[in-house]
Amino acid sequence: MVEVRLENLKKYFDKGRVKAVDGINLTIKDGEFLVLLGPSGCGKTTTLRMISGLEIPTAGKIWFGDRDVTYLPPKDRNISMVFQSYAVWPHMKVYDNIAFPLRIKKYPENEIRKKVKWVAELLQIEELLDRYPAQLSGGQRQRVAVARAIVVEPDVLLMDEPLSNLDAKLRVMMRAEIKKLQAQLKVTTIYVTHDQVEAMTMGDRIAVMRQGKVLQVGPPVEVYSKPNSIFVATFIGAPEMNIVDVTVKETDKGVVLEGEGFEVPLPEELGELLRDYINKTVVFGIRPEHMTVEGISEFLHVKRKAKIKGVVDFVEALGTDTIIHARVGSKIIKVKIPGHVAVELKKEISIIIDLDNIHVFDKSTEKAII
Ligand code: ATP
Repeated sequence: MVEVRLENLKKYFDKGRVKAVDGINLTIKDGEFLVLLGPSGCGKTTTLRMISGLEIPTAGKIWFGDRDVTYLPPKDRNISMVFQSYAVWPHMKVYDNIAFPLRIKKYPENEIRKKVKWVAELLQIEELLDRYPAQLSGGQRQRVAVARAIVVEPDVLLMDEPLSNLDAKLRVMMRAEIKKLQAQLKVTTIYVTHDQVEAMTMGDRIAVMRQGKVLQVGPPVEVYSKPNSIFVATFIGAPEMNIVDVTVKETDKGVVLEGEGFEVPLPEELGELLRDYINKTVVFGIRPEHMTVEGISEFLHVKRKAKIKGVVDFVEALGTDTIIHARVGSKIIKVKIPGHVAVELKKEISIIIDLDNIHVFDKSTEKAII
């Protein structure tokens, strides 16, 4: 096991025109499951490839514990990788696929047998050892790829979108299995995905990336409840956070956020945080699940509330939840109500906002103020 430290890591392509990774500082703790999360092209794979040794950094350093591995070839790093494409060898039986990395390391056959048996049990693929990959389902093939990665007991396990070729149901199942397996083995794991649900459910911590930089690192709940920027706020959560421009006003009711067709009076201490923004435009953020509709659903544990008016524009009945699209001014605000509720289109509704879960961002820097 090992701690991985990335120090001002950079990778530029095309003579510096493409800044794929642009100065990442990140420590992945010994035994931690860290998820690199971000949209396509933000530099996740390139970061992982530098950690694996498949890519040489333009600048910066990579440490495994107190070992500088920046320029070490992959084979000398004691890492394993699992990719999106299953990358199991079609001409080898499952047993030989798993045994392969041990044979490269010249383990004696009796030890190889023991280790293959150990991982096969761990991943519940004992019955498949005698089959060829073509005789396996996608999920089974991915288990073989994971088995082959962990049989060598790597210091660091690197996974690049390993579940994205699986169907939705299998993906949910494998998510839990990989998470449990990692917790059992306590191997330092770096997992790349663009799927925020995968990141939330698997990571001990999530590093949210955008344009080659890490914007925020923290445990899933922290990144969800205290996003440090509009980008992180809207990337995590589904449906995504409602974002509306408002003006901060000082009134006889205290500080209020004034938007088109609505007004949100703020509790005193939140108003204080916006002192410097009086009469300025800021960005108001509220998640669909932190609002409800009067007369339809109740907020049981919410202490401080505000009310705004809207008109029902569209309703998505998901079974588990109902998403109400309400027109407020010229904007559509989404409200998520647990369970199935009947809502009339075009009806005027009162939307209740949980004031302890509101967000306010600076309009120009897009950074969180509240
Ligand atoms: P995805 O989720 O789509 O795989 P990503 O976040 O993993 O995206 P990277 O694959 O790391 O992103 O790519 C980051 C940026 O670097 C992209 O703009 C990509 O086009 C560019 N890039 C990656 N590899 C190379 C290369 N070998 N030569 C030139 N540009 C590259």
